[in-house]
Amino acid sequence: MGTCRRCDWDSENLWEKVYDKNHNKFRYDKDNENCNTEAEICGVNRLRMGTDGEGVRSLVVFDKCPLNCKYCINKSFVNQLPTIKKISVSELFGMLKKDLVYFEATGGGITFGGGEPLLYADFISAFKKEYPFIDVAVQTSLNTDFYAVGKLVPYVDEWYIDIKDMNAGIYRAYTGRDNYSVIENLKMLVTLTDKNKIICRVPHIPSYNTLDDVNFSLSELKKIGVVKIEELEYIE
Ligand code: SF4
Repeated sequence: MGTCRRCDWDSENLWEKVYDKNHNKFRYDKDNENCNTEAEICGVNRLRMGTDGEGVRSLVVFDKCPLNCKYCINKSFVNQLPTIKKISVSELFGMLKKDLVYFEATGGGITFGGGEPLLYADFISAFKKEYPFIDVAVQTSLNTDFYAVGKLVPYVDEWYIDIKDMNAGIYRAYTGRDNYSVIENLKMLVTLTDKNKIICRVPHIPSYNTLDDVNFSLSELKKIGVVKIEELEYIE
């Protein structure tokens, strides 16, 4: 407080969200079941902009992933982060609460990535239940079981989905897995959540897909009902 009027306003707004004046206590209780939910995470990369969603964001990185993408840069990124073993929901909040004012001022929040964050659906849903005032995004391949997707629908504010390619043969060659679950999960997600929360990313993958393949993916996604699509360039 006391820096500028905009910061004062953001601080007051944030304080109202986290503090219950009527009961004179914080709106979260670190002794409850959600706060004790734990997950193994590789690390947290704070104060990022431009790649993981709106505003200033902290990226929480999980390590496991069912895919084996040829140009995966995440595995080397994971190795550069300070390793965190098991962490509870309340411990993660403790690490990130100093960033709340930045989230508030910029419309940012937390992005769960990896690895495959949907393998940790219990942890993410527990986090959002406990701290509903924090914007939560996931960066996912959606190549997971549909229970995880359904479980997270009420708790995820933005879904960033790395589609790879909609052609099953290209997808299999690039990732080592079929994309059947991706397509079925995406169809389910489009019916269960606000379409504006779903951002599908379609990469140009050197040596794997062509411009025609990318255009095919874009058109298949539109047929499913996806309204927000980003094309990406992968660097070989
Ligand atoms: S889905 Fe992402 S984390 Fe998993 S192998 Fe592919 S690029 Fe790497």
